[in-house]
Amino acid sequence: MKLATFTYRGRDHVGVVDDESRRLHPIPGASDMLDLIEHQDKLNRGLAPRDGVPVSDVQLKAPIPLPRRNIICVGKNYREHAQEFSHSGFEAGAVKGAEIDEYPAVFTKLPSSVTGPGATVSLHSHVTSSVDYEAELALVIGRGGRDITKADAYNHIFGYTIINDVTARDRQKNHKQWFLGKALDGFCPMGPWITTADELDSENLEVRCWVNGELRQSANTRDLIFDIPTLIATISAGLTLQPGDIIATGTPAGVGIGFNPPKFLKAGDTVRIAISGIGELENSFA
Ligand code: MG
Repeated sequence: MKLATFTYRGRDHVGVVDDESRRLHPIPGASDMLDLIEHQDKLNRGLAPRDGVPVSDVQLKAPIPLPRRNIICVGKNYREHAQEFSHSGFEAGAVKGAEIDEYPAVFTKLPSSVTGPGATVSLHSHVTSSVDYEAELALVIGRGGRDITKADAYNHIFGYTIINDVTARDRQKNHKQWFLGKALDGFCPMGPWITTADELDSENLEVRCWVNGELRQSANTRDLIFDIPTLIATISAGLTLQPGDIIATGTPAGVGIGFNPPKFLKAGDTVRIAISGIGELENSFA
């Protein structure tokens, strides 16, 4: 099932996406996506109105437009990307030959960085001149928990969506941490919706990203260095994950700093990300 948050005739709804008819069916009694994740019985109460509304008539929003907590992100989780980042000169403290870490690198983006499909993202050109894109599979926690084992990890996933982990490389490098370069307003485009976990084999998804129609990133989630159970076990160690928490799993090779010279985003650029079984997320930059 694909679940979207959208605005129709001035009101926000959550609804089920019917891929074939391209219509959205609002879910009665669900106030927002977080409510639906916490009360999944509402999914079984039937849909209304039966005929739904055309996707073309609504404004899609991020599936969770304002997460309760920071988005948890994993860095350097594809081998070739870890190498391109290390060799780019933008990784503070990078050591040649030590591109692959023993433990996952984890950081967060603020809830206020989230924006929706189709939104225009500010390049914040008064504070950065090196904005980059990162196509990523993100998982959404359904059942919360602490000290979740790898064996039990998939039982805690509600579904999956796409995020663009937009990054100001100069701030990431200069401040020797990743928060300031990653958490700017609008730097977490998310969408177009959530595909529920029962519909996806998240260990075999194609992740692709185009800038102005030029294919830049293309990989499969089977190539993750730290797989999804490892990420959930690592992050939940001594830290209670809550329903609606979002974990982005890292980006493949082909980001702007992977090129020489780097290809940073400019005003007017469009970034489109596609992940098999989910859909497409497209944003322009200004
Ligand atoms: Mg990233």
